Amino acid sequence: MSSLFLRTLREDPADAELPGHKLLVRAGYIRRAAPGVYTWLPLGLKVLGKVETIVREEMAAIGSQELSFPALLPKEPYEATNRWTEYGDNLFRVTDRKGAEMLLGPTHEEMFCLAVKDMYGSYKDLPLLLFQIQTKYRDEARPRAGVLRGREFIMKDSYSFDVDAAGLQQAYDAHRRAYIKIFDRLGFEYVIVHADSGAMGGSASEEFLAVSPNGEDTFVRDASGYAANVEAVQVPQAPPVEVTAGPAHVEDTPDTPTIETLVAALNADHPRTDGREWGAADTLKNVLVMLAHPADEEHPQGWREPLAIGVPGDREVDAKRLEVQVAPAEVEAFEEKDFASHPTLTKGYIGPGVLGSGGSSAIRYLLDPSIAEGSAWVTGADEHGRHVIDLVHGRDFTADGTIQAAEVRDGDPSPTGSGTLTLARGIEMGHIFQLGTMYAEALGLKVLDENGKLVTVTMGSYGVGVTRAVGVIAEDNHDEVGLTWPRAIAPFDVHIVAAGKGEEIFAAADDLAAQLQARGLDVVYDDRAGKVSPGVKFKDAELIGVPTILVVGKKLADGVVELKDRRTGEQRDVPVTEAAEAVLAEVRAEPV
Ligand code: ATP
Ligand code: MG
Repeated sequence: MSSLFLRTLREDPADAELPGHKLLVRAGYIRRAAPGVYTWLPLGLKVLGKVETIVREEMAAIGSQELSFPALLPKEPYEATNRWTEYGDNLFRVTDRKGAEMLLGPTHEEMFCLAVKDMYGSYKDLPLLLFQIQTKYRDEARPRAGVLRGREFIMKDSYSFDVDAAGLQQAYDAHRRAYIKIFDRLGFEYVIVHADSGAMGGSASEEFLAVSPNGEDTFVRDASGYAANVEAVQVPQAPPVEVTAGPAHVEDTPDTPTIETLVAALNADHPRTDGREWGAADTLKNVLVMLAHPADEEHPQGWREPLAIGVPGDREVDAKRLEVQVAPAEVEAFEEKDFASHPTLTKGYIGPGVLGSGGSSAIRYLLDPSIAEGSAWVTGADEHGRHVIDLVHGRDFTADGTIQAAEVRDGDPSPTGSGTLTLARGIEMGHIFQLGTMYAEALGLKVLDENGKLVTVTMGSYGVGVTRAVGVIAEDNHDEVGLTWPRAIAPFDVHIVAAGKGEEIFAAADDLAAQLQARGLDVVYDDRAGKVSPGVKFKDAELIGVPTILVVGKKLADGVVELKDRRTGEQRDVPVTEAAEAVLAEVRAEPV
């Protein structure tokens, strides 16, 4: 410790909110270089190295070969797959001195695909698994919680190459098993959820989420073991119901631009005849958004398309679910100027009458699947201060289709049919999915099959957030005074503290450090002399969070040292002559 490049901080960094992030900075593991960009100090690098080792071992175990692509990449392959534009503002684009445009890789499907195309040409070369542990760049809109969401971060990305779907399924299953081993070894609670496959396209896809109340992802589960990212939940289409409502009628509902004001006015002025009160769930809310589509051949500048979404009035449109449904288009607000250019829309009173391909606005209109054919609604009458009651889906209005964009709630019926959904939050740690042939097609990766015919290779893509894993483990393993690393990824096996001034204390501590090092342990030894008090040393040891702390102090006069478990707080005295063995036993009790 007297020469370790480390300065622990007593104060929390001003920009940190989550406790793990604060502690990683205070304990000297990482330091912020720019928003979402972090320096890994010696302690941090050791932890990172341990995570990487676990990932490497499990990749090797399924026969994947490691290589490393550059981060600085040519743009052409990304143009061929359309991701140069589809990635939008998240892509770091750079221009070299000759004016050539390049990018900093956000993920490497294109490069892997081209490398295989360069080198292989026959079905006999396949199957093939390749991976790298490499730095990625994404200009995230909201970098967050230190290394949890960085703009520069390390990912393990692997890719599988097969001639057919059966091969791809095998590669996918092998990765799934490897990921279970990796995350078990890293020691945090996780769930495997059905995922959407976002901008990547493709079909089968699952995410490994670390369960954490601080997570940005919401997932659902039910009693049958089904778990899904909230974006991937498919709300079942409600079956048609018998029409019981009388003819639709338009009523004056002055000053009711919101669902709340509408429900109050309905109950006051237009009570139901069945004795029940009107509720928000009786109303149909039509939400307008603007989609910004990326450039394509017809629209070199991209194009904007308004979209109307009909949801029951007691639910919001979920921004993330919507995003996934409309990708690669981005969702923007429907602004005053957009209302101005669609004069038949009456803000606050928009009804199905003007929506849909047949309506006067010609705005595409999609309904939440919970809206059954035959059901009756109160909704905007497309006139200021007026609503229509008993407007029946299928009888009085239709839409252009359905969309999975309404919020999913705790207690909603599960799409599996078994019980209800429970919502929880998580942090995406890994993602596996079957890309299929989409990248291979775009980039022309084909091999000759057994019959000498060219077939397009089918690919899978599999990621693990390596730097994010360190962040997640720190969030999961700490107390008020510091980090409490699990054995598998702690920066050291043991932290020896020489607590006191006497020469014999330092001599004994030196000796224990040497013995343990000789036995193959990773030792950090607080040998700081002079003004550094035992109190400061203990505080630092607690902050740094090595699982085993060995204190050589006053009790040495009685021939004993103190052995502490940082995680449980347990401590016991051990004869100095047996201390090395005792430490070894602790370390070996938890094989990694
Ligand atoms: P997210 O939904 O969290 O943005 P993603 O779906 O964009 O993640 P992938 O493209 O599937 O992520 O990347 C694979 C893995 O890389 C993720 O599972 C995650 O662990 C990690 N990862 C992605 N983005 C970041 C980031 N900005 N910082 C740190 N790790 C990241
Ligand atoms: Mg993902």
